[in-house]
Amino acid sequence: MKTVNSLLDPQWYERYKRISKLNIRSSIYDVTNRCNLRCKGCFFYSSGEHRAAEEETDIRKWETFIDKEKQRGVNLAILIGGEPTLCLDRVEAFYKRLPTFCATNGLIRVPRDRFPDMMVGISLWGDEEDERILRGKPTFSISSKNYEGDRFAYYLYTLTPKQIGKIDRVIRRIRDAGLKVHMQLLSNDEGVDGFYWKPEELSAIRFEMDEMLDKYPDAVISSRYYHEVITTGKMFGRSFGWNECPSVTQPLDKRNPSPKRLIDFIRWSSDLKTMHRCCTSETRDCSTCKDGAAHMSWIMVNKRAHIRTTEDLQNWIEVYEMFAKLYQFIPW
Ligand code: SF4
Ligand code: SF4
Repeated sequence: MKTVNSLLDPQWYERYKRISKLNIRSSIYDVTNRCNLRCKGCFFYSSGEHRAAEEETDIRKWETFIDKEKQRGVNLAILIGGEPTLCLDRVEAFYKRLPTFCATNGLIRVPRDRFPDMMVGISLWGDEEDERILRGKPTFSISSKNYEGDRFAYYLYTLTPKQIGKIDRVIRRIRDAGLKVHMQLLSNDEGVDGFYWKPEELSAIRFEMDEMLDKYPDAVISSRYYHEVITTGKMFGRSFGWNECPSVTQPLDKRNPSPKRLIDFIRWSSDLKTMHRCCTSETRDCSTCKDGAAHMSWIMVNKRAHIRTTEDLQNWIEVYEMFAKLYQFIPW
């Protein structure tokens, strides 16, 4: 029988041991229904999730709720929105209680005197041209000033089909701003013309993502295997989608048979009572879903399937390490 031990040399085994201790239990929280942008293809607004519940405004209720989440076993709070930086008191309530990651469009700077080591993921949708079309204005010039050299921030660079041949310049600018970058793919939830993926574009972008990893190993937080899985939607011949997705809110998950999934994962609305279906759009057709975190988690929860060859297991370790770095469970 194949075992972890038999497939790894001592160095890889050490890496494996380091991550296998982590036991990450994440959940996702809509901090607010408001945002200072309105991006075309924002899963939150396009699926009407901002209307699913009224925001809780009493900070004491947030604090009590977060304490309960901690008791439930959550050890990673992923804050999204809307734009969480519009409600820093709520962000602070999480930060004081739990390891916290804050997704932001970067237009408002998280004050580091108040949140010295909170992980911040800054969204970037393509280059200036794409951002003008999709987000109404380019954000990089503002967000890069806000976060230049910040060692607890990175760019979450959403690639669009129009980025083929242009990724290098964007990544170089991020690297030059002293920041890290992780790549994911646009799902195009609002059907913007020219932003759908064709199969040949997915192959081309995968090739370019691999190139960036080789060219900027200190700036790019990624792995080739992740590139393969996210661009093909396949893992060991299985297809990503509803039947396989690990990031479905547990109390709402009635799938039978149940796939391997994130333990006790819930995506909460900002009323602190309503739950959303999954980590992303309530209404997205799962067969078109390119969500980066869901694909990463898909790999991570399927460890056993990777205890097959040395290469498979090393791929799994690299993806787990990537995830752990992005949420600072291990250093860059
Ligand atoms: S910045 Fe984020 S939350 Fe706001 S509209 Fe754009 S994608 Fe949606
Ligand atoms: S939309 Fe994506 S993340 Fe949500 S359930 Fe479907 S496959 Fe999973």
